[in-house]
Amino acid sequence: MGLDPLDEALALVREVPDFPEPGIVFRDLTPVLAHGPAFRAVTAALVAGLPAGVTAIVAIEARGFLFGAAMAQATGLGLVTVRKPGKLPAVAARATYDLEYGTATLELPAATLAAGASVVIVDDVLATGGTVAATAGLVEEAGARTAAVAVVLELGALGGRARLPAGAACNALVTV
Ligand code: AMP
Repeated sequence: MGLDPLDEALALVREVPDFPEPGIVFRDLTPVLAHGPAFRAVTAALVAGLPAGVTAIVAIEARGFLFGAAMAQATGLGLVTVRKPGKLPAVAARATYDLEYGTATLELPAATLAAGASVVIVDDVLATGGTVAATAGLVEEAGARTAAVAVVLELGALGGRARLPAGAACNALVTV
């Protein structure tokens, strides 16, 4: 008997040891994106996990854009693209934070997120949770609220879930 389409999709995630640094096992989702039914199954599962009342999708550069954009098209919700520094011509808010490897800065584009919006934050992988926590800070600065976090894969041992905003639902399609 064949696997469930979502399980088949998640089986395509590739583990790459020692990338981008020694000791990191990188979870590479490019084979999922490259396989049409897999990308569609993952998108459907991310959409199915959305709580009622979400009014905007906030996606994190770069891989979060891919899943966030697919979710936006499937739901009709708008997409807010949180970007790495120097890319946006008009910035509403900026946050610098620690990563599993190094530090990073993210910026929220001006005039994209309405005050009072109920947001789902989308990324490919939840590791330490620093990236999502920083993004949730930007959402809050805009006067919006993080209702949910949606990721394809969660690295459970890194405890990222504990850093999500209080009250936010977390939909991880797989936890490893
Ligand atoms: P973190 O802030 O630690 O939760 O890291 C999450 C961000 O870094 C996400 O945007 C991921 O794309 C990326 N990331 C961190 N660790 C990994 C990993 N082991 N494999 C793939 N991506 C990762």
